[in-house]
Amino acid sequence: MTQPQYEVLVIGAGVAGICQIKKLKDLGINALVLEAGAGLGGTWFNNRYPGCRFDSESYTYGFAFSRELLDEWHWKELFSPQPENLKYLNFVADKFDLKPHIRLNAGVAAMHWDEATRCWSVKLQDGDVLTSRFIITCTGALGVPTMPNYDGMDTFRGPSFHSYHWPHTPLDVSDKKVGIVGTGASGIQIIADIADQVSELTVFQRHPNWSVPLNNRQIDDAEMADIRTRYEAIFATCAKSNGGFDHLPDRRGYDTVSEVERRALWDALYDAPGFALLLANFPETFLDAKANRDLSDYVAERIRARLDDPQIAEKLIPQDHGFGMRRMPMETGYFEAYNRENVRLVSLLDTPIERIDADGVQLTYEHIELDILVYATGFDAMTGAFDKMDIRGVEGQSLKDKWHGSPSTYLGVLVNGFPNMMMVAGPQSVSGSTNYPRSIEVGVDWVSALLQHARDKGLTRLEADGTAEAEWTQEVISMQENMPFSKVKSWFTGFNANVHAADAAPRYIAYWGGAPRYTKILRAKQADNYADIAFD
Ligand code: NAP
Repeated sequence: MTQPQYEVLVIGAGVAGICQIKKLKDLGINALVLEAGAGLGGTWFNNRYPGCRFDSESYTYGFAFSRELLDEWHWKELFSPQPENLKYLNFVADKFDLKPHIRLNAGVAAMHWDEATRCWSVKLQDGDVLTSRFIITCTGALGVPTMPNYDGMDTFRGPSFHSYHWPHTPLDVSDKKVGIVGTGASGIQIIADIADQVSELTVFQRHPNWSVPLNNRQIDDAEMADIRTRYEAIFATCAKSNGGFDHLPDRRGYDTVSEVERRALWDALYDAPGFALLLANFPETFLDAKANRDLSDYVAERIRARLDDPQIAEKLIPQDHGFGMRRMPMETGYFEAYNRENVRLVSLLDTPIERIDADGVQLTYEHIELDILVYATGFDAMTGAFDKMDIRGVEGQSLKDKWHGSPSTYLGVLVNGFPNMMMVAGPQSVSGSTNYPRSIEVGVDWVSALLQHARDKGLTRLEADGTAEAEWTQEVISMQENMPFSKVKSWFTGFNANVHAADAAPRYIAYWGGAPRYTKILRAKQADNYADIAFD
């Protein structure tokens, strides 16, 4: 049988790809990472917008696989900013000498399975073709930005771009009239960060999102030293938490504590770092409609208290979904930005955008002049990166066709009909719903063990069983359907208004059974000698 050039090609040099190539290097596997960008880091290489930072506690976002690395790296802020995060990933790559195993500017255009040679043929955007026995996709959750489709967008005279494409060279926003479309996590970070730098800021909001303070702060040497002594316990807590965070729920029982005690907890959690109000709260506030309404009312009250203008406050309070029912953006001074003279909120529900022209945005009722226009309009989450490549499996079947409507996978790792292709943080894994690196390390370990299993036995082909895939996909569907947010449209439920029709059928792109359950299932399948996978 023809020998391929590589045993493994990894697609993507973001957090997952870096972790995966480290593991493959340790195993002595002939592997190469193909990265479309001009630098490694994925999300943290591409997103350069002002205010971009973690909303996971920094020390839970770093890799846990090396004690030495944990001891050497000093996180300087509780929620580290993008430049520092990119520095961290480069530090990891240098420390473990991973860069020689990463090829940059190597976007994959197509990959086709060849049954005769049991290899993947991978065509790059520059026309180069590489062959590999196995493929491991590490394409990330949110790497395919989506733009709105307003008339005249290409006629705007000034700089205009998606938040993901914020220029890498410094962009001077001072004394500029800036417009931002979108108030998800990216938009909220940008708005809060630049409000006091620009001459005018106009926020074009369609639906508001619930958002609470990030409560970021510096980490000094003493605190970092303390964190280092607690890493084991921190990661143990993350492993117990459904979302992979250093927060565990309060299980006293919503109805067994008094209203005064609840209020005291919520006051404390509102002032606590990160996702505390969501994850260290009573689980009932997420699962029970009445408790969720109570908490939503509480957060609405906190928002009102932060705004000078009650009418603006009402426009910033979501009416179409309860607290925690979409991926919650975290903020630093976001609501206070609207108290500034130079910041204006335009509700597109009151006055939609009619078109973009050379000078700005034409709304139904007025024209707004702008120098810079930013679209913080979200991503084609989880499956977008796969759809962009022409992936063909057994007998030329297209993955895009197979996943038309909604994906189907085995454990979010394998796809029937696409042998020797493994996914880390793939659709229907738990990665879309958790603190990303925590589940990535679980995924990398599992995929690497599977690969090792095949190598040890001299096997050159592996493929998930179709029935097992259907069963997993059903598990993914039932977990999502059980979620209180299953009817709320957001990327969590696979919906993007710029990609899907408003009445599109539900999509199931992430596993909502929680990280501990997911990890347990993966480990059981491994212990069962991968019974659902056909090897040859
Ligand atoms: P997003 O949450 O999907 O938000 C997109 C925003 O754009 C929404 O407000 C949406 O309004 C609006 N929008 C989309 N199309 C529009 C159109 N045609 N006209 C007007 N408005 C439009 O996207 P994102 O803010 O980039 O965040 C995506 C995810 O990235 C987050 O949920 C999070 O997982 C991740 N993220 C994380 C961080 C972090 O702190 N670590 C920071 C940024 C992003 P509608 O709601 O009305 O559709």
